[in-house]
Amino acid sequence: LSPVPSDIEISRAQTPKAVDILAKEIGLLADEIEIYGKSKAKVRLSLLERLKDQADGKYVLVAGITPTPLGEGKSTVTIGLVQALTAHLNINSFACLRQPSQGPTFGVKGRGAAGGGYAQVIPMEEFNLHLTGDIHAITAANNLLAAAIDTRILHENTQTDKALYNRLVASVNGVREFSKIQLARLKKLGINKTDPSTLTEEEMRKFARLDIDPSTITWQRVMDTNDRFLRKITIGQGNTEKGFSRQAQFDIAVASEVMAVLALTDSLTDMKERLGRMVVASDRNGQPVTTGDLGVTGALTVLMKDAIKPNLMQTLEGTPVFVHAGPFANIAHGNSSVLADKIALKLVGEEGYVVTEAGFGADIGMEKFFNIKCRASGLVPSVVVLVATVRALKMHGGGPSVTAGVPLKKEYTEENLQLVADGCCNLEKQIQIAQLFGVPVVVALNVFRTDTRAEIDLVCELAKRAGAFNAVPCYHWSVGGKGSVDLAQAVREAASKKSRFQFLYDVQLPIVEKIRTIAQAVYGAEDIELSPEAQSKIDRYTEQGFGNLPICMAKTHLSLSHQPDKKGVPKDFVLPISDVRASIGAGFIYPLVGTMSTMPGLPTRPCFYDIDLDTETEQVKGLF
Ligand code: ADP
Repeated sequence: LSPVPSDIEISRAQTPKAVDILAKEIGLLADEIEIYGKSKAKVRLSLLERLKDQADGKYVLVAGITPTPLGEGKSTVTIGLVQALTAHLNINSFACLRQPSQGPTFGVKGRGAAGGGYAQVIPMEEFNLHLTGDIHAITAANNLLAAAIDTRILHENTQTDKALYNRLVASVNGVREFSKIQLARLKKLGINKTDPSTLTEEEMRKFARLDIDPSTITWQRVMDTNDRFLRKITIGQGNTEKGFSRQAQFDIAVASEVMAVLALTDSLTDMKERLGRMVVASDRNGQPVTTGDLGVTGALTVLMKDAIKPNLMQTLEGTPVFVHAGPFANIAHGNSSVLADKIALKLVGEEGYVVTEAGFGADIGMEKFFNIKCRASGLVPSVVVLVATVRALKMHGGGPSVTAGVPLKKEYTEENLQLVADGCCNLEKQIQIAQLFGVPVVVALNVFRTDTRAEIDLVCELAKRAGAFNAVPCYHWSVGGKGSVDLAQAVREAASKKSRFQFLYDVQLPIVEKIRTIAQAVYGAEDIELSPEAQSKIDRYTEQGFGNLPICMAKTHLSLSHQPDKKGVPKDFVLPISDVRASIGAGFIYPLVGTMSTMPGLPTRPCFYDIDLDTETEQVKGLF
């Protein structure tokens, strides 16, 4: 239709097929799905065991150039591509997407993540809102751990060794017994006893007191709302907390390490181990304190037992989609789950395709996809689809700034070949970054109504000259899958080449060397500059035995450098590393580049103004 109706109008005009029918079409057995409502289901992990001898399909990553704040259409291209493959070329394919945070859904217009136009996941309101409750489960697990930390400090400081010990050891049928988790902690302390009545006073003290140093707590409370007033808070101000008050903060739920664990795990057993390994603070001797030490690993695993199952939904053209996990793309690794990709690769079969999306520009999402997610999963990607738009290239070429909610200036709505040509340096650089990993690149130019033929041809020509395997314009947003058939054909050709995939760095290198490699080879920095705080954290993590983890850079997505206003390909800059943190359960060290916020705020006119419920029809209005 012209003009293309709003995302929610398009979504609502199509009735999704019942999810059990979709499940049957893609080869799932009746007892392998758990249905939520009419159009969503969770898929059980037992499927991996049933299909373990099935060869994997081809693995395609959708990444992008450095975006404008509006997003350049990676989700839309991901969905357009699978619609083209399955519905128009009759090739099995699966899209794997992240579940969006509700924070931006109610905050910034157009920041839903279900795709858009005629390339969407439906029903989009279910996709963008609670889905099957995974983010709520993460919030619950995260905050139970936060409560456990502060409560433990209070109790350790207000009770005698003996009383604390007696309360911590469970009494089962009148007999004192250690739980499995407590036995593991005793072992860690070098106390090889199983009978609680045989511990000496000194051993009891060691067992009962974690001696957490409150100034070292790195575990924060989370919620899935953009609430800037929770960025800094004071907790423990009630009389009952006896003065154990401290400065703390809330992060957005998708920034929780529990979310990163969900995204990187490959089984329930592995998830439990990762949750137990999460480091939340140091004790007064500088030793790491973990979830396991607090005795809360089992409870967290219980809260997460359903969230670990990927969520099955469908595109507008009835092709299958997994929506699973949505870690923040700047402070975490920004990719959907390993489990969804693994299951989808089995379901599509050897000739099929799984298309998965990495957050933000290729310098952020793709680099972390390769160095963190592929390292964890062992999966080898066949092709990178690099999404570009004429508008973002014009911005890199020197066009005026682009702001969400403000109409675009005429440079963006009228032909301007010079700006496009000048901005292609960013596309060229992102192609080179993908090539560092040995994977062929297909550039997908996501075409907007105002793009001219000459602009489209120029981008495709320059992309090929820069080393892309191919570059094609895509029209899925305005016409659906048939508008991306050329992209699908280009991806098939690229996937037939043998992948020469390689990681960028060896994890055994010292932390500083790994950070420097990413800064120089990917961002184009001259060097890095560590703050004293960053240096001392690196020394501490190395001493604690965490030096051999991959690196997850927390950097702005709006520039290849650390300065969001530096567009194109910034040169002659030194990358400042202000702090370094560790996500030991997820399995990465994350350096903070400059200042990074972990709790977004709401704009002056948040889009919740437009969101409403028609109480007669129960239809949601105003989401897109
Ligand atoms: P990303 O995944 O890169 O953040 P999205 O696919 O979510 O980007 O797209 C961002 C927004 O832009 C969405 O609201 C989407 O509907 C819109 N959009 C994407 N492609 C087009 C297009 N070709 N024409 C018009 N709007 C588009």
